[in-house]
Amino acid sequence: MSMDRAADRTRKPAFLVVDDDQDTAEALRSALCRRFEADYEVYAISSARAAVELLEGFCARHQPLAVVIAALSMPEMTGVEVLVQVRRLHPDAGRALLLEGFSRRETELVSQAMAMGRTDSWIFKPWEPAERNLFPRVSELLADWVEATGQPAFHPVRVVADAGAPRTHELRDMLVRNDVAAEFLAPDSPSGQALLDAAGVDGSRLPVAVYWRGLVQVQPSLGDIAGALGVPARPSCDDYDVTIVGAGPAGLSAALCSASEGLHTLLLEPRSFGGQAGSTSLIRNYLGFPRGVTGRQLASMAYDQCMLFGAESVFDRAERLDVRGDRLILTLGNGGRVTSRSVVISVGVDYRRLGAPGVEELIGSGVFYGAAVSEAPAVRGHRVCIVGAGNSAGQAAVHLAKFAEHVTIVIRGPSLSAAMSDYLVKEIEAAPNISVRLNTQVVAAGGDGHLEHLTLRTPEAPGPEQVDAAALFIMIGARPQTDWLADTVQRDDLGFILTGPDLMDGGTPPAGWTLARPPLPMETSVPGVFAVGDVRGGSTKRVASAVGAGSIAIHFVHQFLAAR
Ligand SMILES: Cc1cc2nc3c(=O)[nH]c(=O)nc-3n(C[C@H](O)[C@H](O)[C@H](O)COP(=O)(O)OP(=O)(O)OC[C@H]3O[C@@H](n4cnc5c(N)ncnc54)[C@H](O)[C@@H]3O)c2cc1C
Repeated sequence: MSMDRAADRTRKPAFLVVDDDQDTAEALRSALCRRFEADYEVYAISSARAAVELLEGFCARHQPLAVVIAALSMPEMTGVEVLVQVRRLHPDAGRALLLEGFSRRETELVSQAMAMGRTDSWIFKPWEPAERNLFPRVSELLADWVEATGQPAFHPVRVVADAGAPRTHELRDMLVRNDVAAEFLAPDSPSGQALLDAAGVDGSRLPVAVYWRGLVQVQPSLGDIAGALGVPARPSCDDYDVTIVGAGPAGLSAALCSASEGLHTLLLEPRSFGGQAGSTSLIRNYLGFPRGVTGRQLASMAYDQCMLFGAESVFDRAERLDVRGDRLILTLGNGGRVTSRSVVISVGVDYRRLGAPGVEELIGSGVFYGAAVSEAPAVRGHRVCIVGAGNSAGQAAVHLAKFAEHVTIVIRGPSLSAAMSDYLVKEIEAAPNISVRLNTQVVAAGGDGHLEHLTLRTPEAPGPEQVDAAALFIMIGARPQTDWLADTVQRDDLGFILTGPDLMDGGTPPAGWTLARPPLPMETSVPGVFAVGDVRGGSTKRVASAVGAGSIAIHFVHQFLAAR
């Protein structure tokens, strides 16, 4: 058991500063004390070896370790080597390197340490003003530590639910992706029973959600939960300038641009504001976030920004699109309708199914499509498998390895590097608890109400092999979520929406096209309906591209509306 799990909660968690320059270590300690001393014990030490002994000492006396900041260059051991020991002894602690600046050598060392998961962040010397250069960095590390160790004392939502039930997974996934700190309690646990008693319900119909203001919901739908958290289930009016369908990065960006430019904007989303990005542990390639940003953080900030600029949001899905004269009618999942002068479709893609016997029955009970972030704490100490060979699978493996006893990546092909970025391949090779099974397929899954084992098949092996697995994360590609559009807008054979020049056939516009001009870039075969992000045929499947496309699409929406 890791030290943090057996932590002595009566002791304040520790901060540790390691720098061979004693004055620097002491100055950093006193800066940290100024802000954090009420809740944390701050230690400074000028010997890297002594620091490792101190780390062992924290383990021995069960004192949780929250944050370690280690100078990059020290004579006895490098800061990276110290942080490797931190990861071994205190897997949840936030780690940062202390740097003189970004010299060529330091840049190389830090970027390698970041890519290998050997540090979470860095801090420059001098760090004054600490309010700008030090405290925010440390607070970010603390926020991650609090989440990883399950420390938050306050949960605005507490849910009593059966741990293995698919419905529980669905609720947890929705709450986590929408960045709501929720506590899940088993109905037969003392705290679960106490919460049911306090809420005045008997627990025969689970799940039960209890909110900080006292509201109690029995067997709530996702819409009920969204409503309780302030996201309406119905639009406030029935005529918008733009309705944006899907609130992933593309939809959020489109909503922000359109609302901030004065268009009356509605944003529809049935699952989680942030889309797929919400299931990403760390986006490292998004402009302006050199230390990376979690999809949830990005989504939550973007959502607030959209709302502040006046966009309206509704927690529901679009189920049908019709054209009536110069108006576009969207039918929603709850049966309601929205009329709009233009529509931006940004519904993204959905995971491809594995199709092996036993797998579908166990979805949410150990089998997950994506969801590596939200389920990661739940696999602590277990053996897990990931199927997939792309960057999503690689990122999931690295993230899950922080929690699981062992992670096995199963891929059909002969090499990991065919579809995965080099930095991820290196990170996986360096991780002691990740192994890769090449030329292998998952052919069955089984377990008693919850995934317990998988059957793997490798062509050269004499027969199938059964391996223990408490969780299976499937990341084998995706399919556009466009069935609801039927024949309204033209799609390619895979279901991706065709736009702009892709609709033209040797200078001839698509069938049914009613305007003299050809479709605008990002405009679909229906005038005034645009498609952006992953769902658009030929799009680049990255967050930055989706965000860029969302804002560009609004430029063309303006052109379309102005011409009308
Ligand atoms: C695990 C993982 C890791 C990734 N890591 C990175 C990374 O590190 N860097 C990077 O750049 N990219 C990464 N990506 C890719 C990136 O997340 C996507 O390219 C990006 O999210 C696409 O944005 P989008 O808005 O087009 O679609 P999505 O993010 O898929 O959002 C679509 C939204 O539409 C909603 N929706 C679907 N149907 C309907 C409907 N009928 N009505 C209303 N709403 C609907 C969905 O619920 C969803 O919220 C990753 C993807 C995954 C899965």
